[in-house]
Amino acid sequence: QTPPYQVTDPATGEVVGTYPFATDVEVEQALAASTAAYEEWRSRPVAERVAIVKRIARLFAERADELGALITTEMGKRPEDAAGEAAFCAEIFDYYADQGPALLADQPLPGHPGGRIQSVPIGPLLGVMPWNYPYYQVARFAAPNLVAGNTVVLKHAENCPTSAMAIARLFADAGVPDGVYRNLFATHEQVAAMIADPRVRGVSLTGSERAGTAVAETAGRHLKKVVLELGGSDPYIVLDTEDVAVAADLAWATRMSNMGQACNSNKRMIVMEDVYDEFVGALVERAAAMTPRTEADADTEFSPMVSRKAAEALLAQVQDAVDKGATLHVGAELKENAWFTPAVLTGVVPGMRAYGEELFGPVAVVYEVASDEEAVALANDVDFGLGAAVWSTDEERAVRVADRLEVGMANVNTPAGEGADVPFGGTKRSGFGRELGPLGIGEFVNRRLFYVQ
Ligand code: NDP
Repeated sequence: QTPPYQVTDPATGEVVGTYPFATDVEVEQALAASTAAYEEWRSRPVAERVAIVKRIARLFAERADELGALITTEMGKRPEDAAGEAAFCAEIFDYYADQGPALLADQPLPGHPGGRIQSVPIGPLLGVMPWNYPYYQVARFAAPNLVAGNTVVLKHAENCPTSAMAIARLFADAGVPDGVYRNLFATHEQVAAMIADPRVRGVSLTGSERAGTAVAETAGRHLKKVVLELGGSDPYIVLDTEDVAVAADLAWATRMSNMGQACNSNKRMIVMEDVYDEFVGALVERAAAMTPRTEADADTEFSPMVSRKAAEALLAQVQDAVDKGATLHVGAELKENAWFTPAVLTGVVPGMRAYGEELFGPVAVVYEVASDEEAVALANDVDFGLGAAVWSTDEERAVRVADRLEVGMANVNTPAGEGADVPFGGTKRSGFGRELGPLGIGEFVNRRLFYVQ
């Protein structure tokens, strides 16, 4: 695993900073500190933990612009989106500070006056997080668990060292005690060793199937609870629409968000035959109008992808489809560094990599279908099962279709129901467990039966 943690600006290719891997001694110190801090942190009244988490929220809001600038350099996100992500983290910490105590309160056990179900913390947890939303991914893991009384050791993606350090600094400034949150520039081997360590009680990973499989395998061997939020190839089904241009605008904007590098991006647009041609035409027009990001951002501007390597991998998937007969209408040109022009691809069929794999970047794949039945079959014909959106002027029809989708999040007439208070997660190879909302705080607590006769 070389090089170590390193920031390479994807817009320019410039290496901005390099940070060494943690030593095994530092890993041991982090685990010892996390274990020691847990005893004290868990026994505090929840109101004290909440007060600190509230301060975290305030600092994310106050520092949104400076935090944002770091991730623009690390992974290319547009500056206003980067600041927006930091501001959204404030909402997540606020949500768990405000709702956490009630969500953690004892539940009665019907028929047993002496019985109740408690939600008690379980101990030090390990978080393994990706680069696509460097703050948000950490927030949705750390916020509920800090309120619940767990402690956190965090291993961020290797291209996100500066945001990883900024988070740790922000937590310390908010009054999070030393050891309750530790950032570690760990290697994959150190991650495996930490999962195996009896002091670590659970692990949460967001990232690729490959990473999820590696972590889940180790966790399984050591009987550790694991939450996995992996890839997706979300269907976006347009059954009918009053205005194709408006529908295409929204579908395109959704796909372009974060340069298409979102697990729940609408990677497969499944469109009914009577609106298909016009829909594809509108997408191609929008894609062709996109220009590379400048200082003054506008809606038609696009960012670089996260890295040259990621852009090359996406190009190989598109090239494979084209070689096997798919139609590339526009885009998919790899320019300098990580600049990749937004693309529209049709004619994708089984046997092409683009059919079953996740396209983690700005490529809209559009499929034509002739019936609701066909739309459902196509939507479910992937290994992933993260989110989905179904659109129709006939809500009942859209609900019927959405109800048949094998996904963790089914949305009707909205691209995605997102918010600090809305649960997020998938089924099939998109992973298991939930983050955010009322369910997110339930993953790493012991639902202890407490019975007093
Ligand atoms: P990875 O899954 O490799 O990275 C995510 C996190 O997992 C990083 O912190 C990474 O660390 C860590 N990791 C990877 N392998 C291991 C391992 N064997 N043991 C321990 N930790 C590990 O994502 P990539 O950046 O490689 O992206 C590749 C693909 O992953 C994308 O194309 C996309 O399909 C998917 N992805 C999905 C995301 C989502 O939101 N669901 C987010 C990011 C990627 P390190 O950086 O040190 O390798």
